[in-house]
Amino acid sequence: MLMLEKTFSFSNKMRISVDHEKLGSFSQNHVKFYLKYSSFVFRALRKHSFQKFLHWMLKKEKIEEQTVRAVQVKVLPLRRKNGKGIAGKCDTARGRIRIYPKTIKFCQVFKKKFGRNTLLFYAGNRARAALIHELLHLKYAEDEKTVRELFQDYFFIFTQKHPAQSSMALCIYTLIFNAKFSGKKASPSGSNNPSIRLELNETCLRATGVSK
Ligand SMILES: [Zn+2]
Repeated sequence: MLMLEKTFSFSNKMRISVDHEKLGSFSQNHVKFYLKYSSFVFRALRKHSFQKFLHWMLKKEKIEEQTVRAVQVKVLPLRRKNGKGIAGKCDTARGRIRIYPKTIKFCQVFKKKFGRNTLLFYAGNRARAALIHELLHLKYAEDEKTVRELFQDYFFIFTQKHPAQSSMALCIYTLIFNAKFSGKKASPSGSNNPSIRLELNETCLRATGVSK
């Protein structure tokens, strides 16, 4: 039993990180919200089942665990110049990965539409997806196409291990990366059922509507 609960070296490299100089531009309430969000994401990423999956993926990709020097769960969100939010970033030279939250505004609208539990589910899986994606960048660097293709495969494998969540997780994938699974990959266990498929598409559509 002890063996099963062993911590992977990887999880020790994870930290919650805040840019203190940026804190001033957020209200106290917003800071409180982002602190809560980051500690939730931190716990989600450190879950043993997910760490075990990452350990397996790194081994399969022949990415040495030492290549990953640091994983920072950033407290404050980051936007691109075009206003779009960023889920994760990878500094391949330093082996440093950063995971960013969605904005409070997005979360409020999302929670109103889908409820708190769905928001938590979304936030956790968005961070997991971002970490898987950025870890692949450590090996494939600028090759976004390969990273995306492999990411699809790995995220699919991960969600397969959690069948109750898989249709939702696929939906979240499309939300995060604005990409669509190819037909072959979009038919995991649950979505053979047309009603689930429909529900998934609807959720995606409605959820996309709140992304601004
Ligand atoms: Zn990428």
